[in-house]
Parts: sequence; structure tokens; C-alpha cells
Amino acid sequence: MASRTIKRITIYTNTARTFSSKAEKNVAFLGLGNMGGYMAANLVKNGFKVRGYDPSKDAQKAAEKDGVTSANSIAAAVDGAEFVVSILPSNKIVLDAYLGKDGVVAHAAKGSLLIDSSTVDPNVPKQIFPKAIEHGSGFIDAPVSGGVMGAQNATLAFMAGGRKEDFDRSVPLLKAMGAKQFHCGAVGAGQVAKLSNNMLMGITGMATAECMNMGIKMGLDPKVLLDVLNNSSARSWSTEVYCPVPGLVPTAPSSRNYDGGFKNELMVKDLELASGMALGTRAPIPLGAVATQLYRIVQSRGYGQKDFSFIYQLLQEETEKK
Ligand code: NAD
Repeated sequence: MASRTIKRITIYTNTARTFSSKAEKNVAFLGLGNMGGYMAANLVKNGFKVRGYDPSKDAQKAAEKDGVTSANSIAAAVDGAEFVVSILPSNKIVLDAYLGKDGVVAHAAKGSLLIDSSTVDPNVPKQIFPKAIEHGSGFIDAPVSGGVMGAQNATLAFMAGGRKEDFDRSVPLLKAMGAKQFHCGAVGAGQVAKLSNNMLMGITGMATAECMNMGIKMGLDPKVLLDVLNNSSARSWSTEVYCPVPGLVPTAPSSRNYDGGFKNELMVKDLELASGMALGTRAPIPLGAVATQLYRIVQSRGYGQKDFSFIYQLLQEETEKK
């Protein structure tokens, strides 16, 4: 494993797709949805024994095909497991799953390590951490970036918060499920990094859509405009990889009817979580606030399931009305 340290953030990059330390192998996996299904499958591929729980029987059946053993409750899944990995939809579901009467903390094995990869408010891991420690387990928050494709191809980036020794212990699992692992600081720091990243992604996506639309409406050839942006000071991931104008970047969701990307409804969720975080610190987020409102409008018009770059269509439609 190669590692380099930039100030207080340590970045670990995979140099091989498999790893040798498999002394600890039993993993309970909670949440076998779009992300978790692939992540659990990648743990199995890397030699872990995975017992999964999801209230959706379809999700459990799909995971069984990938070698995951089904459990019929959280308690049954975590019983005796050395690791628990979860990737769940919301603050409330994560808090209930960990701190509820029949939840993870009440039933986890002493000495186990709990890893929550859900995207949630940083206060959620901060509430779970002391209870986990009191019980005798370690806990880190380790949200992910890279989407469903990243989960499928094990190229996710993990942004972790927690004790260094817990992070180090999690690395073999994170490497089985992703390509990069960042230790961002104390518990909750992973969520802060994730939400900061996604707010910036939402803002640059919105700005790219706005400026591409303006230039095209002024008569520029869309290809020429994109070429200029990609070779000038406005270049970003949004212009290079994720252009919101259909047909210019063949692999971008915009070129496949805005399907199969990062859903607008998940962008709204992350922007709302980031806005809550900013409110707590009183950090001004004028652009984040505008982005939240615009992506909410896309959702209220019925396009929540489309990739968030669909915002370009909204702006284009507004221009057409003039
Ligand atoms: P999903 O809805 O596809 O999957 C969530 C799964 O959790 C569902 O199968 C649901 O049945 C299950 N679940 C609900 N309550 C449960 C419980 N108590 N115990 C066990 N399982 C339970 O959602 P997803 O797209 O996989 O996203 C999961 C998390 O990952 C979210 O926090 C999301 O914000 C984050 N995320 C998603 C993406 C993405 O592109 N989909 C990217 C990065 C981060």
C-alpha cells in the first residue's frame, strides 16, 4: 500500500486490487441497495464472509446471488461479526439501526469495528461513537464518493472520520470496496468532507449548465464552447467529465437521457445536509443556498430520479419561454 501525507489528511491509494491481511474476515453488511449490494459483493470477492441484512427481500435475494448470506434482522447479522458495514438512506434510519433497542450497538461483538458509509449529518456519527465505545466496539464514519458505478467497480473514494487505529483497521475492507481511502480527522470529519465535496459538485454543475446554456443561446457551437472551457480557467470535473449538454461527452449521464448518474433527489439530500452543517457553524453559503433551491425545483417538477445535470434542461426550458 502506498501512502502519502498532505498536512493532516492521509491518503491511501490502492497499488493492488487484492490485499494480504485477511485475519479478520466476518462482516455484517446492512443496506443492500444500489450502493450496498455491489459493496457487499466486492467484500465477498476479496475473501470476506459477509452476512447481510436489508428489509427488502428483493435486495437480499440479489445479494445472495453474489455470495452474501442473508440474516433476518440487524441483531442476527451482527452477531459475532468482527466488522459491521452499513450504507443506509437517512439520518433517522442510521440512528435507529445503530442505537435502537434491536440495533447494532446493542448486539455487536465486543472488539468489533463499526463502519457507517451512509451520507448523513455529521452529528449522527458523533452520537453513535460514544455509545459504540462504551459498548466495547470501534466506530468510524466513512461516506463514499463515486456513485453506483464506483460501487460496482470498487473504485469508490472513502472519506473517514474517527480514531486513527480504527481507520487503519478498516483499510483492508475499504480497499476491497474502493480505490482511495482518506482519513479526514475525528469522528464526523468524513461526513464534513463528503458534504463539502458534494456542495461544490452541485454548485459547479449548476454554474456549468448556466454558462453552457448562455453561450449556446448566443449562437456558439456547443462543441467549440466546451473545448474552450476545457482549455481555459473555467475547466472543472463538470466540464471535462460530466458536461450537462447532451451529446458532447459520450460517457456523461446527459448523453443517456440523464439516466444512471447521481440522482437529483440525492443531490438535494446532500445539499440540505450541507446547508444544515453550514447553519450550525454560521459559515455563509450563498451559492450553496441557490443550488439547493434550483435542484429542489428540478425535483418538484418530477425529475428527482434523473441525474442532477438535468438542471441544464430546466435552464434551457426557461430560456425558450422568452
Ligand atoms: P438505496 O435506497 O438504493 O439503498 C438503501 C438500502 O437500505 C435499501 O435497500 C433499504 O431497503 C435498506 N434499508 C433501509 N432501512 C434499513 C435497515 N434498518 N437495515 C438495513 N437496511 C435498510 O440507496 P443507495 O443509493 O444505496 O444509497 C445509500 C446511501 O449511500 C445513502 O446515504 C446515499 O446518500 C449514499 N450515497 C449514494 C450514492 C449513489 O449514487 N446512489 C453515492 C454516494 C453516496
